[in-house]
Amino acid sequence: MTDLGFGTACTYCESDLAAYDPVFVAKQRGSERVPTGQFCNYACLSAYIDKEELVYGDACTFDPSA
Ligand SMILES: [Zn+2]
Repeated sequence: MTDLGFGTACTYCESDLAAYDPVFVAKQRGSERVPTGQFCNYACLSAYIDKEELVYGDACTFDPSA
């Protein structure tokens, strides 16, 4: 298991990720990928996004009507 500096606990629920197939999130900063979170699964990732309101003001430029 790679140590990303967060230990081995889920960013959202703090469960030990060893019991799961964890999902990792990273942001690109310059040419570097900076880890921003690790989650038990997509359920914890989704709950974390809702709790932290991470999608507020974010939008993709994809336009389905184009
Ligand atoms: Zn979790």
